[in-house]
Amino acid sequence: MFEFENRGQLVLHPRIAASQTVDRLTDTLTQEDAAEESGALSPHARCTCAFHRRWLHQCVASPAHAMPVTGHRWCRSCNVAAEVAIDELSGTVTLTCPRCRRFPDSMANRQLVRSCQASLAGARRKSRRLASVPDRRQAA
Ligand SMILES: [Zn+2]
Ligand SMILES: [Zn+2]
Repeated sequence: MFEFENRGQLVLHPRIAASQTVDRLTDTLTQEDAAEESGALSPHARCTCAFHRRWLHQCVASPAHAMPVTGHRWCRSCNVAAEVAIDELSGTVTLTCPRCRRFPDSMANRQLVRSCQASLAGARRKSRRLASVPDRRQAA
């Protein structure tokens, strides 16, 4: 029991915890953890990552997200992990198989793209409000 408590404290980095952008991530992570545990949310429909504790689009390129068993980020015809390209500006998510150069079309991969788009949108909602960019309309 004590081991778990210590581990929990180690995860929290004071500098990261202070950022409001991460607070929004923490909120979403907590909500999705609870929803997943109660069975209301499929682990593959999450827009945060329960394993990396980040927005999905920030860690989806990790080898841990290529899942031959479920077919997520995986090209079944070539039996290889698909490459993922995230364009944070336009909010587009592209999945390409490095071997056949096609989108490995499957329910799992379509869902992965949707979840990444939701993750991009979730992360953007807060950072846009936080960004200290001067309002252009005032200058015009
Ligand atoms: Zn992850
Ligand atoms: Zn392929």
